[in-house]
Amino acid sequence: MSVKSNKPLYHHASELLKIRQLKGLEFRARLKEYSQPVQKDLWDRIFVYIDLIFVFILLGQSLLGFWIQPFEILFALVLLPITLFTADVIGQVFHKALDTYAGEEHVFWGKAAQEFRKHHENPANLNHVSYINHLAAFGKLMLPMFIICLFFDWTQNPAWGANLTLLLFVLLNATEIHKQAHLQKPHPLAQVLQKLGLMINKKDHSRHHQAPFDCCYSVVNGWSQRLFDGTGFWKKMDLFFWNKFKKMPRIWIQDPRAIPATVYAELKNNPQLIPEDLIIYSDVFSHRKSNELKNLLYRD
Ligand SMILES: [Zn+2]
Ligand SMILES: [Zn+2]
Repeated sequence: MSVKSNKPLYHHASELLKIRQLKGLEFRARLKEYSQPVQKDLWDRIFVYIDLIFVFILLGQSLLGFWIQPFEILFALVLLPITLFTADVIGQVFHKALDTYAGEEHVFWGKAAQEFRKHHENPANLNHVSYINHLAAFGKLMLPMFIICLFFDWTQNPAWGANLTLLLFVLLNATEIHKQAHLQKPHPLAQVLQKLGLMINKKDHSRHHQAPFDCCYSVVNGWSQRLFDGTGFWKKMDLFFWNKFKKMPRIWIQDPRAIPATVYAELKNNPQLIPEDLIIYSDVFSHRKSNELKNLLYRD
């Protein structure tokens, strides 16, 4: 049976196909070149410096507040675990959205989605990106939040101010925190924070890069990992996304072994729902081709 396929959803699958046709060293060199993170422009980097200046201003206000009302420090410490947990939840939601649901052509987040997905095909691709270049991906996006915070007088509520500043600072640094979890030898400060469980470590993050690539989206400290994976939340969201839009979550394209049996049954009856890039991707990474997909594509 010939499969009538949908339009490609994730355009770089065809780029990968061209690369896959190369052999040995040439293949590895082209894959490395393809997955190279794009150099951020000057303004993206300037926005990071502006954000960091705002961090110092907000922190200064809170420290002044603690000086005036020292007991607020205790309240700040009570809020601290909630803040760090919230940071992990927000980091995880953004990561999952960019990995799985975001359109690659979208004017605002298309490039970020492509970069996240290239990282999956070459997880070492971020290891040599500098600190500011790393933060530059989200510096502009976070600027309005820092500006809104500057409208409040945090000397009056330093516990809230300090925690909010920490939350924004951690989120601004989330891509760097993630990078540290990929390094053989992380920065000494990162090593301490990883040991204390305050930063995601290599062991916990590496599970995100193992087949079928559908768990462990934490990029801050991993505290919310159990909440999302233990409840199967993201798997349910993937299925919801499919049922609602009849568009495949990108992680199913990346690894067809993550596609639920009910969806395979549906595809069997409706082959027009099979997206072209699922076929391309499974040719590029044929070792990820599930038996269900082989049955679907090669039945006569
Ligand atoms: Zn990812
Ligand atoms: Zn990673």
